[in-house]
Amino acid sequence: KRADGGYRRVLLKLGGEMFGGGALGLDPDVVHSVAVQIADVVRTGVQMAVVIGGGNYFRGAELSQRGMDRDRADYMAMLGTVMNSLALQDFLEKEGVPTRVQTAITMGQVAEPYIPRRAERHLEKGRVVIFGAGTGMPYFSTDTAAAQRSLEIGCDAVLMAKAVDGVFTADPKSDPSAKMFDEISHREVLERGLKVADATAFSLCMDNNMPIIVFNLLTEGNIARAVRGERIGTLVSS
Ligand code: UDP
Repeated sequence: KRADGGYRRVLLKLGGEMFGGGALGLDPDVVHSVAVQIADVVRTGVQMAVVIGGGNYFRGAELSQRGMDRDRADYMAMLGTVMNSLALQDFLEKEGVPTRVQTAITMGQVAEPYIPRRAERHLEKGRVVIFGAGTGMPYFSTDTAAAQRSLEIGCDAVLMAKAVDGVFTADPKSDPSAKMFDEISHREVLERGLKVADATAFSLCMDNNMPIIVFNLLTEGNIARAVRGERIGTLVSS
């Protein structure tokens, strides 16, 4: 954290579903608006890495329930995250923000391979680094990729952008008495059985004291607020 309470280097995790605008495929208007928000933040000097999900294309578990081999379906789903990464790169560069995509599965024509030290150099130079293809391994998730990358490249926090305001005591859609936490510890999230990220991702963050900020991406300017250390959404820390 900087002296003014803001973060110096963050990892932003975006769910794939929002990139699809609720449908299978890509909604360029959504990607554009996310890119504008990110560009505003990066121009203030904050270093930002991004991991995007692939739920707008496929989820391996769902395809395997319908008869596909799980590993192959997971690889297909990982390739979907690369398409999202390239789309975000395109709109970020149109905003004038230099961007590099690094993928966990090598595909030299469209992206760099994942090289952590090189990713850090890009960040130091003010480039946004987008990590595509998740962890490159079936049975994992892009949440886990976000947690692992944030640790390896030395981020101060993971910003979990959601379509809800934060972490609640219960699902606010089904339980109107549900209350949102402003702050909560990793341990209490576990003890209460709350869902912030999948278990693998969450335990990586907990074991390594990585703070997670869960916030609503649909509120304009929220990425900037989260990065400035303003109290929005829910801060999960040790
Ligand atoms: N996936 C995977 N390994 C990873 C990351 C992703 O196998 O390291 C596959 C998995 O099938 C997953 C899909 O890619 O369901 C999309 O990722 P995720 O579900 O995390 O996307 P999101 O829900 O954030 O859109």
